Amino acid sequence: MRRNADELAKMRRAGRVVAEMHEETRRVIRPGVTTAAIDRVAREVLERRGARSNFLNYHGFPAVICTSPNSMIVHGIPSESVVLVEGDIVSIDCGAIIEGYHGDAAYTTGVGEVSPEARRLMEVTEASLGAGIEQLRPGNRLHEVGRAVQQVAEAAGFSVVREYVGHAIGTAMHEEPQVPNYWPGVAGPLLKPGMVFAVEPMVNAGGPETILLDDGWGVVTADGELSAHFEHTIAVTEEGPEVFTVP
Ligand code: MG
Ligand code: MG
Repeated sequence: MRRNADELAKMRRAGRVVAEMHEETRRVIRPGVTTAAIDRVAREVLERRGARSNFLNYHGFPAVICTSPNSMIVHGIPSESVVLVEGDIVSIDCGAIIEGYHGDAAYTTGVGEVSPEARRLMEVTEASLGAGIEQLRPGNRLHEVGRAVQQVAEAAGFSVVREYVGHAIGTAMHEEPQVPNYWPGVAGPLLKPGMVFAVEPMVNAGGPETILLDDGWGVVTADGELSAHFEHTIAVTEEGPEVFTVP
């Protein structure tokens, strides 16, 4: 699906709201904060900007962000009983809708001081996202994104999750085609200006295997090792990739 200039303008606005959710949630992440409190901060941003949530009530999801600490990869439900402590890492995934158009982006950050290995996992995951974004150019094939992400993650000794992937985005949060974070064996669709994707590497310190928790949402690493998640919403333009989920 290729979006016209008017649609891209709305997605740019949705992306800015998501970036503001990132800024505001980062501010409150410290030892002692609950993940429910982080969700409340994100709700305030949506209200202030007149944006709707694409996460709330999505297949029954009860919050406007996902909060996934430590070995949780994605889709953690914010909770009053999850209290972050010094040395944790936590992934925060945020989304917003402006005039029917979606933005979606995630980051992982440390809670207070974290171990050098946790720091390196976060840095490599963010770098793998950057390498994937660089591939979003007219004339490239979509799955060059996953190939680039995988190269960066695996060169650092980490692994990429297979069961959960990025996606095209527009008038729905999750549109076809999917954007794997690995080389799927085929090059995929030709990239054209106006296409918009959410690229979202989930990188594990140990093996790539995942387990879905009994709540039906939280996904954790099978080996209990740390996982990090970074995501942006990006348009393919004649000039190269344009990241929407920035201030
Ligand atoms: Mg997301
Ligand atoms: Mg996404």
